[in-house]
Amino acid sequence: MSPQQVTWNLTKLFPSITSPKIEEAITQATAVANEFERKYRGKISALTPKGLLGCFREVEAFEAKFSDLTLYSSLTFAADMTQPRAQALNDRVDKLNAKIGKQLAFYSLELGKVIKAKPKLIDDPILANYRHMLQRVLRRVEHQLSEVEEQLIIEKDQFGVNAWEELQSKWLNTRLFEVNVLCEKKTLSYGEANGLLSHPDRATRESANRSIYGLLGKDGEVFSAALRSICNDWVSVSKRRKYNSSMESSLLNNDTEQAIIENLVATVEEGAASYRRYLKLKAKLMGLPVLGNHDIVAPLPNSPEQKFTYQQAQDIIVEAYSRFSPQYATAVKEMFSKQRIDATPRFGKRNGAFCASHYNGKSAYILQSFNGTLTDVFTLAHELGHATHDWYMSRKQTLLNTNVPSTVAETASIFGELLLTDLLLDGAKSDVERKWLLCMVLDEVGMTAFQVTARVWFEQSLYASIDKGEFLDYQTICNHWIKARNRIYGDAVMWFPEMEAEWTMKPHYFMANYRFYNYPYVYAQMFVYSLYERYLIEDKAFVPKLVKILSAGGSLSPLEIGEVVGLKVGAPEFWSGGIKVFERFIHDLEKII
Ligand SMILES: [Zn+2]
Repeated sequence: MSPQQVTWNLTKLFPSITSPKIEEAITQATAVANEFERKYRGKISALTPKGLLGCFREVEAFEAKFSDLTLYSSLTFAADMTQPRAQALNDRVDKLNAKIGKQLAFYSLELGKVIKAKPKLIDDPILANYRHMLQRVLRRVEHQLSEVEEQLIIEKDQFGVNAWEELQSKWLNTRLFEVNVLCEKKTLSYGEANGLLSHPDRATRESANRSIYGLLGKDGEVFSAALRSICNDWVSVSKRRKYNSSMESSLLNNDTEQAIIENLVATVEEGAASYRRYLKLKAKLMGLPVLGNHDIVAPLPNSPEQKFTYQQAQDIIVEAYSRFSPQYATAVKEMFSKQRIDATPRFGKRNGAFCASHYNGKSAYILQSFNGTLTDVFTLAHELGHATHDWYMSRKQTLLNTNVPSTVAETASIFGELLLTDLLLDGAKSDVERKWLLCMVLDEVGMTAFQVTARVWFEQSLYASIDKGEFLDYQTICNHWIKARNRIYGDAVMWFPEMEAEWTMKPHYFMANYRFYNYPYVYAQMFVYSLYERYLIEDKAFVPKLVKILSAGGSLSPLEIGEVVGLKVGAPEFWSGGIKVFERFIHDLEKII
């Protein structure tokens, strides 16, 4: 890593945190929201198509401007969460955002009502730009409650069911874990202990796993009380909102259908036989009779220690994207040249990595803590895929059409990872390096497609249990997890008994009103594998097609996006294409061992 700091330049948003322009923006946002409410509250149902068009444009202009402020405050805070000024601004803008959200909640409710009463508006030529957005409004309208009911839910949930999520994260952040790190006993925070789960030393991995899940399991009754309450709450909410299943709300948010997802998970279950074949192969490479759960994502023994400077990472990623198409790499190059990336690790910086789009700037900002590992290079290539998606989409779409469901949002990011994988495999100097790379790719898919599918079954089984009148105590929930997990891993992995508590650490399960976070990632992974296959067949002819689907943003449904590139996502055999690409990686590995 170069000693030079790699930080982002936020002056495109605001000159500085003390700039009077921030105060002006806050005052202006409040004034515009008041004016919008005065102009439209109670009047949306009477609007002509032209009037609706004007209303949408006002929403877009407001959101574009306001998002400069929300983006600036959240990015400044993420870069250093210990800075009092950044904390204060972030808190202030968060509260303003919540207030405006509540004030303007009437807009979606009234829009829903008018589209339900006059569905012909969806195909009105004047509103052609918003056709798909209005289709989605219509799908949701049946599940909306009255304005007062919606407000009550928000208010009661804030300190009610939402508190379970805080409890779970507080538990993780306040516990200490005793781990033997290379035979030395250490007392570690959750984040530190968690970082050892893929440590090269097997005994260290075992100690970290047993320590984390052992302690989590001791408080299993607390976590089961939390999850039981969240799931039962969701059953009541789903009834009130007239959802047919516990998954329907998530299907609407992801702009997809039950049959497509059922087909997806069934295909992944069939493909799990190949994943198990790989896991057995990995056991052989690690010199083990069978993998332990602590070996699933472990690096191969004697893996080459590859370190990258930030400049090297930049060069490799630009090359990977440019090999696909020089024009396609424009966004990536701009992200570097315009200082849109904050990469230097520092105390107080937010964990993990993200890419935040900046509609007004037709670009994005990326945060990560780059430590020079190959995983960091892949993370950067992934986030730059998101930035590329934003780059194309913000040039072709109005703001309301840049709201992309998770099923589609990961397209360019996973595609970017594959471009990097191909470049590195082509440049690998030995079979050892190739083996190491292939295992890394297969391990990653193992987690995002296969293990995540087990989490879908797990979540489904919790609701099935409630339907049958069962009580979700700790052991019942653990049994559901073990059953779901074993459907994927079968006899390819031996589990520590402590791993029954694995579900307790996943924050998503504890997020009220956000159910089934999981399958969009499986969808995206398998969809992009099929997409990549088309690229390998069509070569340069494929470039404009990818550009077209990225430029479409949320103006097309995920099914229509598939059609643009000749993929029939709704066809029964569709997902097996993605599994075949996964199997090819295994085959490549088998050839060199
Ligand atoms: Zn992503």
